Amino acid sequence: MSRDVTAPGLGECLLFWLFPARCLWCGRVVGPEEFFCKDCIGQVPAASPRQFQLERSGRVLTVRAPVQYRGGFRETLHKYKFQGQKGLCGQLGRLAAREALGFAGKADGVAFVPLYKKDRRKRGYDQSGLLAEKTARALGLSCLPLLTKVRRTKRQHSLGRADRLENVRNAYEAGEEAAGKTWLLMDDIVTTGATLCQCAEALYRAGAKEVWGLCAASAQKEGKSHGTL
Ligand SMILES: [Zn+2]
Repeated sequence: MSRDVTAPGLGECLLFWLFPARCLWCGRVVGPEEFFCKDCIGQVPAASPRQFQLERSGRVLTVRAPVQYRGGFRETLHKYKFQGQKGLCGQLGRLAAREALGFAGKADGVAFVPLYKKDRRKRGYDQSGLLAEKTARALGLSCLPLLTKVRRTKRQHSLGRADRLENVRNAYEAGEEAAGKTWLLMDDIVTTGATLCQCAEALYRAGAKEVWGLCAASAQKEGKSHGTL
């Protein structure tokens, strides 16, 4: 794919006049096509592993993420998720898009892990949905709200590994438009992968051909940091 996924769209470029792009690690102003400043780029930890496979119910879900969920990047994602800084979605989406280049060509579209509707109303936006929209735009794919969260769940980070799976079991359903197609399934952060796997299963139940996972950050702990950002 020759597409330059790191290039912001026209609308985003205009916004940069008012709100310049900032380093996703330290917050310093950077160029519109940059993700990290020159001082930080060498110390930002690549996700480790960068690509991994999750197995649930006999299916394997391959997931990719560019950066480890820690330090300044963790703070940036906190601002994006919990402090209303939804303008970060453009940079985060393009960062994720660059990570997906290896398999985006096989995808028919982008789906995302949704919030429960009352939670979305309270927050005012769906952080994975915005991220998925920007990633899809950078990749030249369409983003569809295929998944619905059918019941409220506890916050995953407050639970242990086994409880996380139980907490989200059958919490998602997918629309019939999923059938026969390959989907890039997005969430902002992957930890145990329980939520991603439940959403992937919902897409498969609706007849999806194949599902790949893609996140902005990974909190997986195995392996050594490698690769360049
Ligand atoms: Zn920086």
